[in-house]
Amino acid sequence: MKPMPLIFAATCDIAGKVRGKAFPADQLDRRLSRGVGWVPTNVQINCFDGIGDSPFGSLGDLLLVPDPACEVKVGFEGGATEHFMLGDIVTLEGDPWAFCTRQLLREALARLHRLSGAHLVSAFEHEFQLRGTGLPNEGFGRNAFERQRVFLESLMGTLKAAGLTPDSIMKEYGPNQFEVVVAPGTGVKSADDAVILRELTRSAAQHAGEAATFAPILDTASVGNGVHIHLSFRDDTGTPLTYDENGACGMSGLTDAFAAGVLKYMPAILALTAPSVVSYERLTPHRWSAAYNNLGFRDREASLRVCPVTSREPASVAKQFNIEYRAADAAACPHLALAAVVHAGCQGIEEELRAPPATEDDLSLLSPGELAARGFTRLPETLEAALDAFTGSDTVTGWFPEQFADVYRSHKESEIAHIADLDTAGKCAAYADTY
Ligand code: GLU
Ligand code: MG
Repeated sequence: MKPMPLIFAATCDIAGKVRGKAFPADQLDRRLSRGVGWVPTNVQINCFDGIGDSPFGSLGDLLLVPDPACEVKVGFEGGATEHFMLGDIVTLEGDPWAFCTRQLLREALARLHRLSGAHLVSAFEHEFQLRGTGLPNEGFGRNAFERQRVFLESLMGTLKAAGLTPDSIMKEYGPNQFEVVVAPGTGVKSADDAVILRELTRSAAQHAGEAATFAPILDTASVGNGVHIHLSFRDDTGTPLTYDENGACGMSGLTDAFAAGVLKYMPAILALTAPSVVSYERLTPHRWSAAYNNLGFRDREASLRVCPVTSREPASVAKQFNIEYRAADAAACPHLALAAVVHAGCQGIEEELRAPPATEDDLSLLSPGELAARGFTRLPETLEAALDAFTGSDTVTGWFPEQFADVYRSHKESEIAHIADLDTAGKCAAYADTY
């Protein structure tokens, strides 16, 4: 018997899970046009394998078509190979399907370009934890880093082999927590890269005898695992559009309006960017995550942060300059999270909004009235409240195809129900096992 090489055609769905089907590698040419069969109700499989109410029932057929630009074929120490391709979900007629997350992102990016002439350049910064306690007292520590050097070098090599550009990797502050950063990408590429990075991190860990999880928080007594999305703009010729030395915090007019839209609509997009029940244990004050819809200038307590640029390279300031959305986590499909942020920014451009001044103080010390007077609000404190904010905004649901908000809500309600009987520690453990 000779093993038959297989390629796994994959989608990252609204649960933020990577699912799909495999075909023999020698069929690739045919599969690039014909894809593999896919079923509409799959969109309602939640992250615990429950199924939310589906308007599609047992009806309908779709195609999941692999994209050669997203092919990953990597080998690991010991000889194991993984081979997958992210793709698009289309109807049998070949039209984009309303719940294809890559398509939803493309539509948001097209809106941005229509409104402003800008292309989005973005990068996802990921935090994750290895299971088990790891070495104690090792925030940014060298010892804990060296303990995992074999895994970390394997991970970075694997990311490079998959076509990503590794930037840096570190032992983060939390117990057994690490952070991995790759170079930005234009358009959908950064979100594709984020999916690939999560998959390969879990795989590299497994092949090194470890287990990695991107769950938003493992222990409410400690810090969470954030996904920070860095955003900047370029015109058709590649010229940076994000920076203006005379703008507030260095923001160009475009960045300012985009940021203002993200801040205004943040409560209503949180259900898409921080979509798990335990995401809201992370999004609390003093965790350096995001608790208010505030702009921060280099402040890591802010949900939207104007990032530092180094004046040691003055010529590249306009290129380096970016803003960072911090209210996301890896329970969110990267494409969906980015689509929501981009639409919110576009809304800011359309409404000609201006961002409020950057905050420098501890907003948790302000009363709701004082917060409101400054134009801020505490972000939703539960997934239910975030879903209410999402489905309650006609503007926000209007950015997505007609059935999207209802389907998404049922999906998330089935997820909430699935773990409703668990205490907080049990909920964190359930998410640690799925992300
Ligand atoms: N762990 C923090 C979070 O949940 C972020 C810490 C940092 O600034 O890197 O977002
Ligand atoms: Mg970090």
